[in-house]
Amino acid sequence: MDANRPYQHVIVVGVDGAGQYFRDADTPCFDRIFERGAVTYRALASRPTISAECWGSMLLGVGPEVHGLTNEIVSSRPYENANLPSLFRRVREAMPDAALGSFCDWDPITFGIVERNLGVTHATAPDTELTPVICDYIRKEKPTFLFIQFDSVDGAGHGHGYATPAYMRRLHEVDALVGDVHKAAEDAGIIDGTLFIVIADHGGTNPPGGGGGSHGGWTDEEKYVTFAAAGKTVRRGEIPGMNVRDLAAVVLYALGLEAPAFDEKGWTSQLPPGIFEGTSPLYRDISHLTGAEPRVSKTPHTSETL
Ligand SMILES: [Zn+2]
Repeated sequence: MDANRPYQHVIVVGVDGAGQYFRDADTPCFDRIFERGAVTYRALASRPTISAECWGSMLLGVGPEVHGLTNEIVSSRPYENANLPSLFRRVREAMPDAALGSFCDWDPITFGIVERNLGVTHATAPDTELTPVICDYIRKEKPTFLFIQFDSVDGAGHGHGYATPAYMRRLHEVDALVGDVHKAAEDAGIIDGTLFIVIADHGGTNPPGGGGGSHGGWTDEEKYVTFAAAGKTVRRGEIPGMNVRDLAAVVLYALGLEAPAFDEKGWTSQLPPGIFEGTSPLYRDISHLTGAEPRVSKTPHTSETL
């Protein structure tokens, strides 16, 4: 235990291709877990709205123009960039003995965005098979930082179209996996000290006339995604605006680690306003970096002060 840390544990469940659709799907576990949480269905993905670009932004705290990762790159070479450490390396350097885990259905995330030799426990399998492995790991190791990625919702979008009945059904099924992960943290006795997050990397659109969907563009269906956080200091309500890369700043804050200084050519991950009690961060509009229209106020959130 380190009393100086707001949280002893952070669990991130990434749901690939889920976009904003947690809002519309039947997701009882999500609804229960985040009943008193901070939620938005309009977090902005990175551009282009492709997996490596977006997951890379979340785990590295920078935009695709800085990390340069693509699906091809993360699938073909191990991640190594001394100037751009992943969240795992940042946490490991501060906490040599912490249990860290990366369990990704789409293994190129662990392979191509996380450095080697950090002592990160990892496994890969289709999400339904991977979940019991994850739950065992949580109960045994009580991880300090655990990152999970489930891929089948995106698979349903590519196969059947996004927001179609088959897609919504799969999102409902993956919601149960999210519930299993949360339950494992309860079983492990760590839930009170855990910041629990669900995030999507991008959504997707469908061609006229139906059929399989795709993503990569900048339509509302592709660029707006779900982000939800639950924990003892989380402020209940809607997060007014954020980018998916802000996940990095949220994780560092939760574990009591200092984030790098904001730099338009580098670290652009920020603590979203309205997420934690007792914080009132200045949130810089980075729409000129992402090619998005400005929509986040530059005014700091002032309803709570330290
Ligand atoms: Zn993806």
